[in-house]
Amino acid sequence: MSVWGTDDMMNFHNTGPKHDGPFKITKKTKITALCGAGISAESGVPTYRGSGGLWNNIRIQEIATPHGFLADPERGWEFYGERRKNMAKCQPNPGHIALAELEKQGYDVFTITQNIDGLQHRAGSSKHKVIEIHGSLWRIKCSNISCDMEVFDNTDVPIDPSILECKICGSPLRPAVVFFQEMLDPRLMAEAERRTKETDLFFVIGTSGTVYPAAGFAQIAGAFGARVVEMNLEETPLSHVCDETILGPSGETLQKLLHELTDGEFKF
Ligand SMILES: [Zn+2]
Repeated sequence: MSVWGTDDMMNFHNTGPKHDGPFKITKKTKITALCGAGISAESGVPTYRGSGGLWNNIRIQEIATPHGFLADPERGWEFYGERRKNMAKCQPNPGHIALAELEKQGYDVFTITQNIDGLQHRAGSSKHKVIEIHGSLWRIKCSNISCDMEVFDNTDVPIDPSILECKICGSPLRPAVVFFQEMLDPRLMAEAERRTKETDLFFVIGTSGTVYPAAGFAQIAGAFGARVVEMNLEETPLSHVCDETILGPSGETLQKLLHELTDGEFKF
């Protein structure tokens, strides 16, 4: 039974921090990082929400739905094309780089990200070690859900409009991101849930955890025995269920962790 239904989520009540005392990270420690918009903000990724201007919230909600996109794919690609252009200018920050470096050094690090900017991959994390639960702006798929066309990578900026029609069924192609009114991919969610349950150390990075699934992952990790460590700029509604809260830019916190591990060990 999935834990993602509302009823099941209720089984994971806030129980508060359970762990104290030192926690030693070794290469056998299963580490999972749940990343939200805060880590991307440290790279200057624009959020668009509440920013006003040409792409105000109402227009985004019109465009970023399955029907809205199909009503005018050209307008949809104008919006996503602009986002790709802006994101292409952003670079992975020390937080992304620290997570990728831990993996390179042989630590068992896995990232569940809510961000669609692809920065964790660009920082060097392996593809199979990152789950992008909201999809990626750098992948494209057919808008026809019955079509067999495979999702493909494309990082062109600007994107060539002539490729944006499905070669199999002729439907418009669309970014492989989760639109408003769409479900998260159950296969990815199951994988993220499996990893969360078996993890020893769970980082909540740059997300306030007020919306599911972020809050759910942190609570599941804690309920299954992980040490839960929050890295945010300020305390959040999730802080009281975390074993530790480290305030400050995640880039600084993760680099400190990386350096201390490289020098010997890092203990919470
Ligand atoms: Zn198609």
